[in-house]
This record gives sequence, structure tokens and C-alpha cells, in this order.
Amino acid sequence: MSTRSRRPGTTTRHDRPAPALPGLDALSVPTAELYLDLHRHPELSGDERRTAARFADRLDADGFRVLRGIGGHGVAAELRNGDGPAVLLRAELDALPVAEDTGAPYASTATAPGPDGRPVPLMHACGHDAHLACVAAAARWFAARREQWRGTLLVVGQPAEETLSGARAMLEDGLYERITPPDDVLAQHTAPFPAGMVAHADGPVMAGSALLEARFEGEGGHAATPHLTADPLLAAAGSVVRLSAVAARESDPAERLVVTASSLRAGDTGSTGNVIASTAVLHVTVRAFSEPALDRAVAAVERVVRAEAAAAARPPRATVTALSRSGVTLADPEVTAAVRAAHQRQFGAARVTGWPGSTATEDFPLLTGAGAALHGRPGIRGCYWMLGATGPAQWTAAPGGGAAEKLRVLPANHSPRYLPSVRLTLETGTAALVTAALARLGPAEG
Ligand SMILES: [Zn+2]
Ligand SMILES: [Zn+2]
Repeated sequence: MSTRSRRPGTTTRHDRPAPALPGLDALSVPTAELYLDLHRHPELSGDERRTAARFADRLDADGFRVLRGIGGHGVAAELRNGDGPAVLLRAELDALPVAEDTGAPYASTATAPGPDGRPVPLMHACGHDAHLACVAAAARWFAARREQWRGTLLVVGQPAEETLSGARAMLEDGLYERITPPDDVLAQHTAPFPAGMVAHADGPVMAGSALLEARFEGEGGHAATPHLTADPLLAAAGSVVRLSAVAARESDPAERLVVTASSLRAGDTGSTGNVIASTAVLHVTVRAFSEPALDRAVAAVERVVRAEAAAAARPPRATVTALSRSGVTLADPEVTAAVRAAHQRQFGAARVTGWPGSTATEDFPLLTGAGAALHGRPGIRGCYWMLGATGPAQWTAAPGGGAAEKLRVLPANHSPRYLPSVRLTLETGTAALVTAALARLGPAEG
């Protein structure tokens, strides 16, 4: 992820933070311990057995009704506390196949067997371990202070976010039939702006995406006689070049469309170099901030791929398949206004900044709005904000005079060097969740 942000400004009389919520300080140590444990033991999407168990056990110990194994290793937990709204806090369980290179004493050395049997290094390079630790801490705070709120607090540990499949799997496994359906779903995501801050978007928080696979199936042959082949390579290579024109030449710059040809495979790795391959496979990632823009870009990829194949004297057969698609993450304006105001009261206005929208993507939208309506639960509203994760020393040491320059060089999510500041990120993330959920749950009976 990359974005712009402003540094904390001067706190004025009007944006002085509220006194710290009682009981948050006592959560710091167990929250950091859970984070470090999860960080040392990352698990791949769909394989989050240990992570789910740690998360679920903790909620169980805090008095939640806990359901396990929903849509894979998904965890859902519920704490009823009288009449009132139902508010769900969602975090993700999965990590990434990345070799950690942070140098942190708690860096992951974990591996998992890869497709060829060789070990694949694993890392919580997206910050999901921090999200889980903050949600567990917030859940503990609510369980210990039932006199301060009314309603139902729900918690979800979602598997397989990185593959954009876990939210759907949980819904299809009856998530919203098995727990009290939420009125609001709240989530946060770390990003490399200064720890201690949160950021809210006025428009889309994250882009919608489509991952497409284009297959060119031709007829290979001898490299010395290319005129006798139906060459899939030329059509695939032509597509890579031409696809760059979809964003550069066909779309309004204000749309912020991304079309990236991300991998191209053709031929055998053991090829002697004198064989033209019969098949080429091209992966294309599309990101856009509205569904119509996403639809137009997907149609453009299909058009370019077919046209490049058709341009050959002996055209290879070209097909385009959608491997995954995610919706645009749009925070509900009314819920977001209430949560942003609560964050400003809690942290002071200088620690609550704007968010320009990221071209990263999420399957969070499925848990709200039209996604939840498909599973018989219309009217669920979502709020999603970003959580700063770069500690003060790392921020100061980053070259560049302004925030935008620093953000270009600081390791971001999915980088092997992504290193959230433990104390400040967790404390801010926990307080952000508690204040947001308090603002949406019913007030305590007087
Ligand atoms: Zn990620
Ligand atoms: Zn993530």
C-alpha cells in the first residue's frame, strides 16, 4: 500500500484528546504478547489452524460464545449484554509467503511446504497479526466493562483474506445465521504512516479488483521456422504492451485505474531455446474505484487479448478467465462520521487524518451492504479506517522532507521489511476499536 498522509500537527485547545479510557493501559502487555506470538507463527491463507485456535481460546477465556471452523478456520464470537445494536469487529487470520527481513528479534523464521515440497518462508507482512491482537484486546475490554455499554459485541477472525476467498467462505458457511446479525461491521488496517494516528476516507477506502488469466493456445514448433507455428508468445507479449494503454489512453486520469500485466509464462523451464511454446499464460491485475470502471477495464483486457491473438496470420486461441474479484471498500458515510468524531475525541484531531484511498483491495465489502444482502442480510453497514504503523524513530530516519517523500521509501505492507511499531500501533489500534464500537453500541442504562 502507498498513500499520502500528514504528520501530526500541533494540538490546539479544541482538539485536545479525551482522557485515556480506563482499563486500556492494563491491556498493553497481554496484547503485545499475543501479537509477538502470532508474528512468530504466521500461517498461509486457508491454513490458519494455530492462529485461529489462539484467537478463539482467548475469546473463550474472556466469556464470549465462540464458534470455530466457519468457512475453513474462521472464528466468530459473541457477547450479549442486553438490548441494543450489534457491532462486529473483524480481523484477518492469514499471513503471506514472504521471507521476513526486518531484523527484529521476534522476526518469523516459519515455513510451510510449498507446491513442490520445498519450504516456503512465511511472514505476517500485511499486519494481520496486529489487527488480531487489537481486536482481542478490545474484546477483553468490553467483556470486563459490561456496565459501560449495551447491545451485542461480535468478533470475527476471518481466514484467507489475502486470497480474497475467506469472507465469502464464512458467509456461505452460514456466518450470519450462526451469530446475531450485525448492524455495523468495523475493521482497521495497518499502513506505513505514523503510528499513533488513524486515517478515515471520505470516499472509497480501497479499490475493487479483478485478477484475470489470459491463455493463448497455439501450435508450437521449431524456433527456426516460426512461420509454421501458431505463436502464442507474440500475442501474449503484444498484450502486455498494449494493456498499458488501457489506463494511459482509454480512461479518465481522475478514475485512478490500474491495469498491470503481472506474470507471463510460456514454454518449459528446461527448454533448450529452440522450441516455440504452444501455450502462454498471462496474469493481469485490474484495480478501480467503482464497479463500472472495473467492468470497463475487464472488458478492455478481454478486447486487447482477443485482438492481439486475432492479429496473427495463424492466430492462437485466446480465452480470458476471472480468477477472483473483490468489491470497492466503501465506508458507510453516517457510521464513518460517528466513528471519526469518536476518534477525534479520543485522540485529538491532530492524530486523525484523511485517507486518499488505496489501490490495495479487500474482501471486507462482502461482509456488508450488497455482499451481505446476497446472504439474506440487507442493511449491514461498514466502517473501515487505516491505522498508522511506523514508529517515531523509523519515521524520522526515513529520508525525505515531507510525508509523501517518506512514504515512498518506507517499507509498506507485503514488503519483507514491513515492521509495525509494536507498542504504539497496538495501543492506538486497541483504543480506536474500543472508541468506535462504544460509539455504535447502546449507552449503558443509567
Ligand atoms: Zn495483504
Ligand atoms: Zn491485509
